[in-house]
Amino acid sequence: MILAPGFTGYPLDRGDEMRDDMRNLDALAGDPRAKLLQLNGLEPVPGPDGGLSWAPLDESPDIASLALLGFDAGRVPHFARLGDPVPGQPAYAVWALLGGLSAPEAAIYAGARSLVDWHMRHRFCANCGHVTQPMRAGWARLCDASAGGCGAEHFPRTDPVVIMLAEHDGRVLLGRQPRFPAGRYSALAGFIEVGESIEDAVIRETYEEAGLRVRRVRYVASQPWPFPSSLMIACIAEAEDDAIRLDEKELEHAKWVDRAGVLASLAGDPDAPFIAPPPIAIAHTLLSWWAAQDS
Ligand SMILES: [Zn+2]
Repeated sequence: MILAPGFTGYPLDRGDEMRDDMRNLDALAGDPRAKLLQLNGLEPVPGPDGGLSWAPLDESPDIASLALLGFDAGRVPHFARLGDPVPGQPAYAVWALLGGLSAPEAAIYAGARSLVDWHMRHRFCANCGHVTQPMRAGWARLCDASAGGCGAEHFPRTDPVVIMLAEHDGRVLLGRQPRFPAGRYSALAGFIEVGESIEDAVIRETYEEAGLRVRRVRYVASQPWPFPSSLMIACIAEAEDDAIRLDEKELEHAKWVDRAGVLASLAGDPDAPFIAPPPIAIAHTLLSWWAAQDS
């Protein structure tokens, strides 16, 4: 089974080798074919077909305010503009727009959103507090020593999150957070802490949230999750028993669901035991993968 979680399969050549040479970047920004991703704050501006929309660059753009997203098959450079923070944008206003994006567009959008958002939130040096400037074609920020800073370079961060199914006797454990829409259940999840492996985090989080001891943690798939910049790492593990002891600060309810129940939920059956996570979420991919296993 080929797994293609949402937001994966970034279709552009990221062009890392072009990022450090300002003359290269000037030439790319002067390419009349160059494209600028249209964003309203962090949200995509939909084109006529509901997909991403692109515009030509200005005549002589400020290269320091652009991030190079990469090149398509015709070596057309694609950029996003780095801007100031936009106050008051609801974090999930984007959901209605995501459905209009093709899979490759969703991957471009995820990368661009996380990158633009990171710049907005990292305008000052975490080491010395001095103002920082974009560098490396938007893929880093510099606390410029020649302008009174400490010289530190800062890079866009990715925060790893484990998301997992604990399996016991042909059933998997699903949980519900209070903020979920009515009927929705999903895989348990949590941030990996410093000093933890993926396996350690799966074991700890499953125990903290549901009181379950798990073993034999196995990796299934991963996806970037641009809200704001997580890497979701989907796993499966074996539960030693099925006695749930809920952490009610994290979960409102949790339950075991068998394969038929998962399949019915993924199919949108109104009599299914839960409403499945949306297809763009890796929890959906993980449940589909598990439901397709033999046992
Ligand atoms: Zn500094």
